[in-house]
Amino acid sequence: MSKARSTNTAPTETGADKNDEKTQNGAESDIFLDALSRMEAAAKVTHTSPEVLERLSRPHYVLQVSIPVRMDDGSLRVFEGYRVRYDDSRGPAKGGIRYHPDVNLSEVKALGFWMAFKCAVVGIPFGGGKGGIVVNPKELSNMELERLSRGFIQQIADFIGPDLDVPAPDVYTNPTIMGWMMDEYSKITRTHSPAIITGKPISLGGSLGRDDATGRGGYYCIKELEKRKGWSPNGINVAIQGFGNAGQHVARLLHADGYQIVAVSDSEGGVYREEGHNIPALMRTKQMSGRLLTEGQIITNAELLELPVDILIPAALENQITRHNASRIKAKTIVELANGPTTSEADKVLHKRGALVVPDILANAGGVTVSYFEWVQNRAGFYWTEEEVHDRLYSIMSSSFSAVYDLAQRESLDMRTAAYAHALSRIGAAIEAHGTQDYFISQD
Ligand code: GLU
Repeated sequence: MSKARSTNTAPTETGADKNDEKTQNGAESDIFLDALSRMEAAAKVTHTSPEVLERLSRPHYVLQVSIPVRMDDGSLRVFEGYRVRYDDSRGPAKGGIRYHPDVNLSEVKALGFWMAFKCAVVGIPFGGGKGGIVVNPKELSNMELERLSRGFIQQIADFIGPDLDVPAPDVYTNPTIMGWMMDEYSKITRTHSPAIITGKPISLGGSLGRDDATGRGGYYCIKELEKRKGWSPNGINVAIQGFGNAGQHVARLLHADGYQIVAVSDSEGGVYREEGHNIPALMRTKQMSGRLLTEGQIITNAELLELPVDILIPAALENQITRHNASRIKAKTIVELANGPTTSEADKVLHKRGALVVPDILANAGGVTVSYFEWVQNRAGFYWTEEEVHDRLYSIMSSSFSAVYDLAQRESLDMRTAAYAHALSRIGAAIEAHGTQDYFISQD
């Protein structure tokens, strides 16, 4: 760790070592292929039919669009965007839209695949999808951002729908953007269509409790671990990589329970403080200045991951824990609030070291679970109290956590393989029921 460092590793700016993982034969490993390898490992436990695996090895639909945007200075810029409907065997595709300069098709496919498994882990009736635009939104004015967001919906309007594919926020998108998108879709279809998208502002049909749902879902997982391990929060140190929506809320909830949040970071780098950060104060300065202004030791994002803490929460981007740093990760418990923060090679190293990883498809499923509640409320035209949202979220998160944890114990699996196995049996059952060779033979 170094004091007063001026240049920090910034995972959200560089995409970290996304292209740094080499396969054994020297070729670049692909994030989507790495995602598929988790399903293959789980299939050995579930004995899923090869036909099901074949179906789940590729996305159902992929749409690539270009979005022309008139910039404030009068010039024209054309942005590249994607929407992938990965799998819809269990219901309409569901998943966010990401704005980031490193967005690419392989990543969007991986993110859509993870969404399908995430929805199945928590048993909500959706498939998986994802979208993204190659853009650094910090370089755009608000009006340019609005034109880009509306332009994207114009390009993908025929591809999405409340019964087909329901977008939501993801990295660097927010309720305001969801509101513009819902408005644009409603104009195109000449209907009031709140159920087209989730994560909207409350005034446009958003759900109470959606704002902190991802962080809260991760927090409920930690509370389940606390019960099983007999932790006393005051003695537990936590480091959180990423202080966006998910990172801030999990920090707030854990801090309120007495956990010591000793390190946090954003794309500019992190701050370590042995006695723990004052999280409400940190959230205020972050929201007002956009920066992590606080006293403490300046650290890089890479250094944060290797701190000697009890719980590490990666809450930024994918490919942060790789085979290059896995052996230096000291935390015994890792709770993945980001999508895909750990590569499959790193998983093996962590497992050998006895670290417990609560995998992304379970730990960050709180967001999509409350998105499901929002969609249900929009379709029913009947809205719930925040307490009802929290109670229902708690009940889904705690029972899903138990199902995965117990399966892992029973079959001596790591929690990721157990989560994939749990999800794969649900998706597999839906695909089988749609009709596979085995299904027809068993009906004879
Ligand atoms: N982007 C979030 C995720 O990765 C939320 C998706 C949603 O609410 O549909 O889970």
